[in-house]
Amino acid sequence: MNDVIHLLPDHVANQIAAGEVVQRPASVIKELLENSIDAGGQNIKVLVKEAGKTLIQVTDDGKGMSLTDARMCFERHATSKINTAEDLFSLKTKGFRGEALASIAAIAHVEMKTRPGDEELGTCIKIEGSEVVSQEPCVTPEGTTICVKNLFYNIPARRNFLKSDTVELRHIIDEFQRVALAHPGIQFSLFHNGSELFQLPESNLRQRIVNIFGGKTNEKLVPVTEETDIIGINGFVGKPEFAKKSRGEQFFFVNDRFIKSPYLNHAVTAAFEGLLKDKAYPSYFLYLQVDPKSIDINIHPTKTQIKFDDEHALYTILRSSIKHSLGQFNVAPVLDFDRDSTLDTPYEFSRKGVTTPKIEVDPNFNPFKSEGSSGYSSGGYRKANSTGSWESLYTGLESEDLKSPDSFEQVEFESDEVTGKLFDKSEHDGGGTTFQLNKKYIVTTLKSGLLVIDQHRAHSRILYEELLKNITVSSAVSQQLLFPLQLQFSTNEIELLREIKESLEQTGFIFSEFTKDSVEITGIPTQISESEVAILLEQLLSDLENEVPGAGFSQVDILSKSLAKGMAVKSGTSLNPHDQQNIVNSLFACKETSLSPYNKPIFITLTVDELDKKFM
Ligand code: ADP
Ligand code: MG
Repeated sequence: MNDVIHLLPDHVANQIAAGEVVQRPASVIKELLENSIDAGGQNIKVLVKEAGKTLIQVTDDGKGMSLTDARMCFERHATSKINTAEDLFSLKTKGFRGEALASIAAIAHVEMKTRPGDEELGTCIKIEGSEVVSQEPCVTPEGTTICVKNLFYNIPARRNFLKSDTVELRHIIDEFQRVALAHPGIQFSLFHNGSELFQLPESNLRQRIVNIFGGKTNEKLVPVTEETDIIGINGFVGKPEFAKKSRGEQFFFVNDRFIKSPYLNHAVTAAFEGLLKDKAYPSYFLYLQVDPKSIDINIHPTKTQIKFDDEHALYTILRSSIKHSLGQFNVAPVLDFDRDSTLDTPYEFSRKGVTTPKIEVDPNFNPFKSEGSSGYSSGGYRKANSTGSWESLYTGLESEDLKSPDSFEQVEFESDEVTGKLFDKSEHDGGGTTFQLNKKYIVTTLKSGLLVIDQHRAHSRILYEELLKNITVSSAVSQQLLFPLQLQFSTNEIELLREIKESLEQTGFIFSEFTKDSVEITGIPTQISESEVAILLEQLLSDLENEVPGAGFSQVDILSKSLAKGMAVKSGTSLNPHDQQNIVNSLFACKETSLSPYNKPIFITLTVDELDKKFM
């Protein structure tokens, strides 16, 4: 048999290694930033075009490279950072594999200019697909500039795999922030397509966090410090009342390196136990210092995972020091999240004068007779227009059974709604052909059975179709706000908002001003109340950020779904008969009636036949 085994040529090996190191433009940014920091850069500037697909350029004022090093650094396993395997256990630098530059040069057009402080002239070197194209002396400032163009130009499959510019830019901003947060003492800036996204001066940690996440962040931060034999902790956690709906602002750094650790994350969450609303994530920026010998960074090629020697002890120390801080800064005891939010005064009533309550006794009150609720009248749900065409879908349903208000006399269901009127605004139209079960389902009769409708899903579907229509066909009217609403956002969020601004305006939002970390809103969609705006937008941004890659949904679709979800009546909300009927009518006027925007069933039917079988 012939010998078949041979060594791969270098450029092929490099391309393969690149598959591990460089997943997307953001990975290049991370590697280049880390090199600049290792080189002692104090001012690091990043330029990006088209989310890094056409250009990524990182300039530092670090120690630069000699002529030979400039050539060497693109070789695989070329590193100045370790000499022996033992060095791995006392790493003080970010890089050590000597793989990044070789990998990047294998899959892009790379141009590097570099000059060490003690030389007059620098070196300019051009490499394309691992081939050195040219190398010559050049005039350049002290430090290094690396320019990476046309990433994946020779691997079309990888290039096609890249996501939209929005998504890729998000990844870039994420990496940039992680590095910038780990090194507040270094000046960083980031420009995209010529516009400045971040300009971060050298500062202390708190100031760095505020510069990245916006002015309002400052008052939300609670400092955490702890010094023990095995770990030093410092940094900040966000006050619980500012906890976010997405995991956006959660950062662990171990020895100034960003890491992900579900285990330690759990420790933080445990410290917040009882202080957070459902599904809220606390913000944290925590910096752990441990002996490099006690960790193994080398277990993951992109180095965001880490193994600690004594995880269990770290968990306990972390949790108790955060608990301590929350207690010390008096954050914990004043909060009462168990309060029933349905008892909150709806916004439109908050400015109404106080009226003395009157006791009214309804002589016809009969607790066993079904009556619609009246408590629900706050801003969440305004009448959706029924277009009337639903009747055709609904034929056969309107029958004498339906008309008879007594047809539910036999049915037992919770009647906790009849406990008096909270507000004087409810409308009763008398004709009770629907009723609510558990404040969750709307039940109505069919000619030959029952229809049980999930109120939240039904309303989501109605609003979703309405929003889609508004955005794509005709814009919606908006309600003008008496006083403009000022909302704070982080730089990323502002970027995203800018991008979807037009669509949002079609739904009824009016933005009067965009700054670097806030927006001013003067009009909102008619379906929501002012107090809901902040939560709705926050949820929307989080949904857009977590856009399922490649699922083929357009931004408009995600936007409509998210807003619909946020605006729709929640389960647990009482609906008066009028609102119930409105939902039923509007639902059957929809193009799709049986599935929610998230593809969940909206209603089930229970036919007389099925009932008959149950009684056999
Ligand atoms: P590693 O960072 O793991 O050593 P890299 O491929 O990222 O591997 O870099 C190879 C070497 O090139 C580094 O060890 C360093 O000596 C040199 N180098 C890379 N970037 C810079 C820079 N911005 N300034 C000075 N030297 C650099
Ligand atoms: Mg490196």
